[in-house]
Amino acid sequence: MTNNNICELSAKCPIYSGVLKSEESLTSAYKTIYCNNGEEGKSKCKRYQVAKIMCRCADNVLPNSYLSVKEILEQMYLEENKNNS
Ligand code: SF4
Repeated sequence: MTNNNICELSAKCPIYSGVLKSEESLTSAYKTIYCNNGEEGKSKCKRYQVAKIMCRCADNVLPNSYLSVKEILEQMYLEENKNNS
């Protein structure tokens, strides 16, 4: 049975899979607020919002990033072009 409250991007999300190894309580809080909180949680997650536009999100973006979605997209664009030049 699937749990519709869990973000459908969780299987490939570094935050969900515990990339913040030394920050277990922070990871747990992110999951409660964003990942396991249905549409309300996803709608607040910057990673989710970026991934819905780009089909991916830079690994270093946190769900509660202080940057706007537009700023995150601009940073990703600049970073990718820097790497491709
Ligand atoms: S951090 Fe965001 S994108 Fe990742 S699983 Fe949680 S809600 Fe989904």
